[in-house]
Amino acid sequence: MSEKSVIVIGAGIAGLSAGCYGRMNGYQVQILEQDTRPGGLCTSWERKGYTINGSIAFLGGSGPQVNIHQVWKELGVIPKIRMVDYEYFIIIEGEEGQRLLVYTDVDRLEQHMQELAPEDEKVIAEFIAGIRVFTRYQLPFEKAQELFTSLDAVKLMCTHLPLFRAMGKWKKISIKEFAQRFQNPFLQKAFLQMRALFSEDIPMVIFLMFFAWSHLKSAGYPEGGALRFSRSIEEKFKRLGGRIEYQTRVKKIIIENDRAVGVRLEDGSERRCDYVISTADGRTTIFDMLEGKYLNDKIRDIYAEFPLAPPVLLVGLGISRKFSDIPHLGVGFIFSLQEPVIIGGIEMQFLRPMVYNFDPASAPEGNTTLRLVLPANYAYWERFQESPQEYRAEKQKVAETVIALLEQRFPGISNQVEMWDVATPLTFERYTGNSKGTIIGWDVTTKTAFKRIPKALPGLRNFWMAGQWVEIGGGIPMVALSGRNVIQLITKKDGKSFSTKEE
Ligand SMILES: Cc1cc2nc3c(=O)[nH]c(=O)nc-3n(C[C@H](O)[C@H](O)[C@H](O)COP(=O)(O)OP(=O)(O)OC[C@H]3O[C@@H](n4cnc5c(N)ncnc54)[C@H](O)[C@@H]3O)c2cc1C
Repeated sequence: MSEKSVIVIGAGIAGLSAGCYGRMNGYQVQILEQDTRPGGLCTSWERKGYTINGSIAFLGGSGPQVNIHQVWKELGVIPKIRMVDYEYFIIIEGEEGQRLLVYTDVDRLEQHMQELAPEDEKVIAEFIAGIRVFTRYQLPFEKAQELFTSLDAVKLMCTHLPLFRAMGKWKKISIKEFAQRFQNPFLQKAFLQMRALFSEDIPMVIFLMFFAWSHLKSAGYPEGGALRFSRSIEEKFKRLGGRIEYQTRVKKIIIENDRAVGVRLEDGSERRCDYVISTADGRTTIFDMLEGKYLNDKIRDIYAEFPLAPPVLLVGLGISRKFSDIPHLGVGFIFSLQEPVIIGGIEMQFLRPMVYNFDPASAPEGNTTLRLVLPANYAYWERFQESPQEYRAEKQKVAETVIALLEQRFPGISNQVEMWDVATPLTFERYTGNSKGTIIGWDVTTKTAFKRIPKALPGLRNFWMAGQWVEIGGGIPMVALSGRNVIQLITKKDGKSFSTKEE
């Protein structure tokens, strides 16, 4: 019997994953990607001999103690890429010299927090106990949730009751609300700053999972950065016999009798197939490629009401300095500014440089790459859309301001800067097509966390979505699983059993 064919729109992690599992299950797969290389948001770029890592700080499942490690083996990342474990998640330095050392080891973290703020003994104990539950229990990933039977759900409840109890409790508590429970004013402030890119309404459950995975040495950094990571999955896809075309932008999904039968490209040409999977921006897929013809109230409400994750500015710096005094930190360290400063229309009270001294390949010998991810305002940058000169000048202003502020923590740094680069929400939007340049899709809040978004659309056959627009809060492990799950749904439809073996 000849192989059925699948077209995957997008070569981000979701698309590459769908491609690999599609091949493992005997489908002819073609991935169409508008950009010139794989990875989508999971990418890096070179500037003057420095590599700026544009994504992964933490890879869930980097180590074998967390079950989704298996996915990285199936996708060819492991053992090809070495994972670096961090000693600290973050270090936060207060205005008066206080330091919150957020160790990845939960026992050290507990001891340090209790010493720092004995008056908060009970709140700290509750937080640490929360992390420990997530070190003991993990949700199984092997079967797509869409295929769960009632019996599967009951069995899971019985074997994972403490996990479900913890999830139920902690998903309702935002980091902002929990931070307010500390009496120690420094801890109260620092705990909230720890959320890095996320909004104040992010539920504590997400942090507890991060910390549990870090403690299990399974939230590390893939050496070489995000693009090398993406390329390792691209290599696996090609080795499995998949085809990938770059600089190929899909404009429409071709529908016949309410069935997806192919795609129309920007140049007007058409590609036919049995199944289409889109990993591209959700709004573009549903409202442009499919002209808003396949909707129900649930999907309409999601696109009308769910908030997008806040966009960011990503400042990369190449510095002729070693930073040997800075330990290996997952999301960098925070230092308070002497006074608040406006950058890109937003007031900053602190900076959070990530020092890539744990990845020597990212900079010339003896030098270091720094990365700062700052909150951004899309509307502020949107006005530069039509004026490239002003846009460039504004980016330069951002870089100069950041460098001047880094002087407060690293005297002499201004004279050691060999390279600067600024990516704005417009950059992320241009390269990946994601709405308003968002970097994880939907914001994960106490209201949206764990909400299910349908991967199929009502009334449309042979079409699925995978990736961050159907997985709230995105993230590399979730979108890779999303690609895997969609192939499971397709094999189920075709009456085949799902395989993770190379054919
Ligand atoms: C600064 C930063 C830090 C991050 N840190 C982490 C982290 O530490 N850990 C973590 O797990 N996650 C992190 N993320 C998030 C993670 O990178 C994303 O959630 C994930 O990569 C999204 O993958 P995706 O495949 O769903 O979407 P995308 O990466 O957006 O892929 C979609 C692909 O579709 C292509 N496309 C779009 N439209 C079309 C079209 N019309 N035709 C053809 N192709 C099209 C795009 O070019 C893109 O390649 C971070 C992201 C950023 C930017």
